[in-house]
Amino acid sequence: MATKRDYYEILGVDKKASADELKSAYRKLAMQYHPDKNKSPDAEEKFKEISESYAVLSDQGKRQQYDQFGHAGIDQRYSQEDIFRGVDFEDLFRDIGMGGRGRGGGSIFDFFSGGGGRREGPSRGSDLLYELAINLEDAAKGKAVELEVPRTENCDVCHGSGAKPGTSPKTCSTCRGSGQVNKTQNTPFGRFMTSSTCGTCRGAGTIIDSPCTTCHGSGKVQRRRKIEVKIPPGVDTGSRLRVSGEGEAGGKGGPPGDLYVEINIKPHNIFTRNENDLIMEATISFTQAALGDEIIVPTLDGKAEMKIPPGTQNGHIFRLKGKGISSLHTSWKGDQLVKIKVSVPTKLTDRQKELLREFAQISGEKTRGKSIFEKVRDHI
Ligand SMILES: [Zn+2]
Ligand SMILES: [Zn+2]
Repeated sequence: MATKRDYYEILGVDKKASADELKSAYRKLAMQYHPDKNKSPDAEEKFKEISESYAVLSDQGKRQQYDQFGHAGIDQRYSQEDIFRGVDFEDLFRDIGMGGRGRGGGSIFDFFSGGGGRREGPSRGSDLLYELAINLEDAAKGKAVELEVPRTENCDVCHGSGAKPGTSPKTCSTCRGSGQVNKTQNTPFGRFMTSSTCGTCRGAGTIIDSPCTTCHGSGKVQRRRKIEVKIPPGVDTGSRLRVSGEGEAGGKGGPPGDLYVEINIKPHNIFTRNENDLIMEATISFTQAALGDEIIVPTLDGKAEMKIPPGTQNGHIFRLKGKGISSLHTSWKGDQLVKIKVSVPTKLTDRQKELLREFAQISGEKTRGKSIFEKVRDHI
């Protein structure tokens, strides 16, 4: 079994497919691969694959999860039973004569509960989620980081079989190797086959007489593995990067899962981020604001000169084009916004006070200390 294929691709529909389009695509494929009609050996596997795709995509919530996070969004959140819950397969097939009793009295549900005593095949390993905190500079410029990921890997000594080298596991006689024992339940809606894990082999399907001493028969070992991950420029808090095949080892020779790295950006002491723009505050004196000046502001690329024109007001925002964060998928860059804060001096020398009074006088503020009402009266 190869890595899990895309659900849309399996059903041969567009990502924007409507509920009706999904339904008709699924019914067409289901008719083609239904194991009652199609006797090729991979028909059943194929039928399960298209049914799972339909079960996920026909459910708004699950479809959203899948669109956002891919298979990890589904596999980590839902059990096989949860995936199929809510889909009325009986109803879907009733009018084309496949809904009722299928093979020898079993219903279509048999396929979804693992009934039939088949041995469990290879299974894909679980996906892993790693939360990575990085600083704003690294998010803006991108960086290669080495992660140490604790994960389950196949044991090197027994190559995942769990049996001591030179011996091999024996088929469990209770479940005849399927790892599952089946129970049939008759309900008004049809016959349900439910299966539970075999108690003798604990679901493995095999019994190991002489276990591998390294992994004690599990076939798996816990290891901390160093994995290099390239963080692309432009990531933000909540961005998820997929590192294909670096998840946990698969079962019985199945492919490994994927590693997802979720980014969390640490707060910066100067900048706050608004999508691709960076925002900072620059404090200037009231004389700089009035007379104009050139100031130095920090940017992610080092210091930059910025002109303060005469008469700059408190709260004014200047824009440094292209000094923000590049977008994840294009070469476009955001801007740096510099918000001006004009500071008013709190301690003045006598000479400074004298100059300011003179300034006020020239500006027409003749009557220091008078209320607005008095000033108005003076004018009349
Ligand atoms: Zn081993
Ligand atoms: Zn068993």
